[in-house]
Amino acid sequence: MTAQIIDGKLIAQQVRDEVAAKVAQRVAAGKPKPGLATVLVGDRVDSATYVASKQKACAELGMESFHHHLPADATQEEVEGLVQRLNQDPKVNGILVQLPLPAHLNEERVLQAISIEKDVDGFSPLNIGRLAQKGREPLFVPCTPYGCIYLLEQAGVQIEGANAVVLGRSNIVGMPAALLLIGKNATVTVCHSRTRDLPAVIRQADILIAAIGKAEMVRGEWIKPGAAVIDVGINSKPDPSKKSGYRLVGDVNFDEAKEVAGYITPVPGGVGPMTIAMLMKNTLRAAEIQQGE
Ligand code: NDP
Repeated sequence: MTAQIIDGKLIAQQVRDEVAAKVAQRVAAGKPKPGLATVLVGDRVDSATYVASKQKACAELGMESFHHHLPADATQEEVEGLVQRLNQDPKVNGILVQLPLPAHLNEERVLQAISIEKDVDGFSPLNIGRLAQKGREPLFVPCTPYGCIYLLEQAGVQIEGANAVVLGRSNIVGMPAALLLIGKNATVTVCHSRTRDLPAVIRQADILIAAIGKAEMVRGEWIKPGAAVIDVGINSKPDPSKKSGYRLVGDVNFDEAKEVAGYITPVPGGVGPMTIAMLMKNTLRAAEIQQGE
């Protein structure tokens, strides 16, 4: 069997086009452009790159972005004070604090300071708490897990009743992905670094979401024939044939897995492009909520 490739680049573009069209309609109706505030503390090059691509996406979709860059030694009070000012600013519909924060800052307190109505990353304890409770809805779902579920749904994968395995239990990917799958009536097993006999657990999965950050660790022979495989991992692997000397690979051995799976996302071009697309969708939703729509 050769798996159907789930084209995240294409699906992300469709999400972006829908968001851009709705933004244009709002502006034509005299409403303000949705606005996203980004907060970067310190000078991590990867974080600065992520923030820049979020600002670029805002511009491309007709939204405003407001960037705030604080020094690496900013105090807890300074960061929380900025978040409070952004909470009060009517031009700002969504607030994104780029993680990780420098080690001296209390990340949980900063995330807690973000107004739930502006928490477009979905990481505030209130949104996560609602996601974890049966019958409660978060206002915003964390963007990468939201993208994973969206890809499954777009590919027509049956989630309800499926055995789903989530590999990884981080706050930003694995855990919210597992909660979302439970909310969609899958039967979910969460695996992590202490899980025994990972291949045997993964072989039971109709749906596998892999988010561990270990290059090509999941082998084709671990995959249940016909399973849907969503590979969140982004790892660089030495490749002398590339000018850069490396190429990006996922947590799943793609060449092996695509021969067994029913559906699979590539890396790059799978989950990656979905994260920013879902952030833009969340920012538009924030504007709609705040304008009482
Ligand atoms: P973390 O490092 O925060 O979490 C990794 C998780 O994997 C942990 O739960 C850890 O277990 C588990 N794990 C690590 N090694 C093993 C192992 N050998 N066997 C089983 N479980 C293991 O990573 P993130 O969740 O932040 O990211 C995961 C991957 O997803 C990374 O490659 C990252 O680059 C990528 N990513 C991609 C995004 C995108 O937009 N496409 C967005 C965010 C992340 P334990 O809890 O026991 O330590």
